[in-house]
Amino acid sequence: MVSSEYEGRIAARFAGFDQDGNGYIDRQDFSGAAKALLAEFGTPARSDKGQALYAGAEAFWQGMAGIADRDGDQRISREEFVTGAVKRLRDNPDRFAEIARPFLHAALDVAGTDGDGAVAVTDIARVLALLGVTETVARAAAAALDGDGDGRVGEAELVPAFARYFTVPE
Ligand code: CA
Ligand code: CA
Repeated sequence: MVSSEYEGRIAARFAGFDQDGNGYIDRQDFSGAAKALLAEFGTPARSDKGQALYAGAEAFWQGMAGIADRDGDQRISREEFVTGAVKRLRDNPDRFAEIARPFLHAALDVAGTDGDGAVAVTDIARVLALLGVTETVARAAAAALDGDGDGRVGEAELVPAFARYFTVPE
């Protein structure tokens, strides 16, 4: 028996990936997220950081398509997401972290790591909000990630938290 709360969370995660809201998750949603992140932080697309972010977005899309695009039409329908992606990623959260990591790593670089690999909590919240995490959740999550309270969050904390959010524990 699947609870309606669970289904509601799945719908919210689908909407988070479907950045342009056309009812499918496809490559444009990932490149669109990269573009929005670069705009938010004023980083040129042609810069090294911009190119790394687009490469990470493409790898993220390829990984998701490999898991969920069962009919091979280069887009993930809501049904493919629910029956394929959510279940497989929930069974194997490490796999999700693996396919999302290059994109998240590049996103942290764009948000500004000051060379120490960590980003200000306020900037993490901006990144999460752009990736479709609701703003309230993004702010709370960013603060919660900062375990030692120094106002900064690193990749080692962000990647597993992002995976937990998007793989929707029941
Ligand atoms: Ca879409
Ligand atoms: Ca498909």
